Amino acid sequence: MTRNHILLVAALTAITAIACSGNNDDESPEPTGKLMVVTTISPITSIVENIGGTRIRVNGIVPEGVNSHTFEPAPSVAKIVSQADLIVLNGLFLEELFLEMATTNQRPGAIVLALGDKAVTKDEWVFDFSFPQSDGHPNPHLWTSPVLALKYAELVRDQLVSLDPSNADYFNLNFDTFKQRIDDLDGRIAVAVQTIPPENRKLLTYHDSFPFFGLRYGITIIGAVQPSDFREPSAREVARLIDQVKEDGVPAIFGSEVFPSPVMEQIAKEGGAQFIDQLRDDDLPGEHGDPLHTYLGLMLTNIEIMVPALGGSVEALDGFDAGLVFEGDSGAKYPQ
Ligand SMILES: [Zn+2]
Repeated sequence: MTRNHILLVAALTAITAIACSGNNDDESPEPTGKLMVVTTISPITSIVENIGGTRIRVNGIVPEGVNSHTFEPAPSVAKIVSQADLIVLNGLFLEELFLEMATTNQRPGAIVLALGDKAVTKDEWVFDFSFPQSDGHPNPHLWTSPVLALKYAELVRDQLVSLDPSNADYFNLNFDTFKQRIDDLDGRIAVAVQTIPPENRKLLTYHDSFPFFGLRYGITIIGAVQPSDFREPSAREVARLIDQVKEDGVPAIFGSEVFPSPVMEQIAKEGGAQFIDQLRDDDLPGEHGDPLHTYLGLMLTNIEIMVPALGGSVEALDGFDAGLVFEGDSGAKYPQ
């Protein structure tokens, strides 16, 4: 399909959408000649924004600060999806309800790219407390390893180049800059983690999103508090976790703003650890336009919170540039 065909199909789809909706206040976007890309969670939106820059239109769907695992898209999302040339999601069973909506509403010829399903093989899937093998759904948080986030970026770059070859040089340049940043960040994180006393290189989180991070940097995930059904853990489970925190002697355990949990405070207090409730996995710091409101900013902020709490230093991260890799305003949409 040529670029003109894509535009023609997109235009016809838009016209059909207006005709079908039967009202005139339909806010179908003016044709811009840019690829329309719909994304799900904000780290993925940021990766796509970094590569596509100002040459694509990006529309994130999952609002920041909501539980992406149980996120149910509003009916209005169907229309946004129907206008997309490309739908990018994590996959690995993370956005099941969105995926269902996307597959019923996508326009003919639209591409669905599930990054997690392509970035690792089944042999590399991780099952754990919150994502038990018995449920068959592996831990989907691949992007907390910057190296896997780079793999996501590569898949996005390849897809954008294939859909819009006229902007291939631009997408490739953005990818190359993003790769340099990821390589830089990866090296700096490794140095920072080395400053944590070896006996403290252990992570207990509420939401179970750091297994791939742990694997990359030699941090043992000693547990996650949130059960697979996203309820609060049972009293017995809490007692077990308190014992574990005591036994492992970790100086801090970590929660997130997305999943406030009073139980975490109890586990920390009775286990003799500090409770830090600011780790994030799919809620970028600040808002669109803020310098840290990027995938790189998300990881930088996590490390700056985690490493000192475990007794290490983040000096190695000084001067890291977490900003977007391209010039100009992409107009990417990050619902809050
Ligand atoms: Zn998550």
